[in-house]
Amino acid sequence: MYEKELTALLESNGVCACGFADVSDSLPEDVPQNLVYAVSFAYKLSGAIIKTIADRPSIMYFQHYRAVNSKLDLIALEVCRFIEDKGCDAFPIAASQSRPDKKYDGVFSHKTAAVRAGLGFIGKNALLINPEYGPGIRLATVLTDMPLEINRIKYENLCGSCDACVKACPAKAISGKAYTPGMEREDFFDAKACSENMKKYNDIGRGAVCGICMSVCPFTKYHKH
Ligand code: SF4
Ligand code: SF4
Repeated sequence: MYEKELTALLESNGVCACGFADVSDSLPEDVPQNLVYAVSFAYKLSGAIIKTIADRPSIMYFQHYRAVNSKLDLIALEVCRFIEDKGCDAFPIAASQSRPDKKYDGVFSHKTAAVRAGLGFIGKNALLINPEYGPGIRLATVLTDMPLEINRIKYENLCGSCDACVKACPAKAISGKAYTPGMEREDFFDAKACSENMKKYNDIGRGAVCGICMSVCPFTKYHKH
């Protein structure tokens, strides 16, 4: 019953896409199991900044990446406050997550929530591809027990015969297999190779970003229209 208000709150904060999902079968053990709904939202990266990524990331991209993550985390706090004011539980998942016990995974997969919430599909590069903005977005999630009408839109994989990211990845982390629902990430994407490659960029953001496979994707939109 609060979907419209939540959407208005998110849009007033500049998100470019948002939706609601049932994630009851995807909650990690250490997340309260009553939080079966997800509010998923995306914030568009600057097209001009994405253009600064060439055969390696740029310092401008790293700084922008961090700024957008911070913005998403602040929006998540507002969503939490709204939900808690209505008497429900809210559990924000940080835009950029890492945990020492799961080297290549976070607390909860933003992409799982985003796909189910109708924000896009998983590309060959293992990124969420929004049909309007491509992979040039960042994601955040708020888990909640607030009953939400979930989105029914589901996008098929639209990568087709494209292999731009496969060719461009310096780590050869992208196998070229198209993701289909039910596949594990390791079936089509080498997260370890991707992560190890980023260490080459220690002069930029302590080696925590790359973005080449995002910048070459034909779905990436540099402007709104
Ligand atoms: S982020 Fe860089 S290393 Fe990782 S998959 Fe994309 S292009 Fe390859
Ligand atoms: S670059 Fe091509 S293959 Fe890779 S995610 Fe984008 S559309 Fe899919």
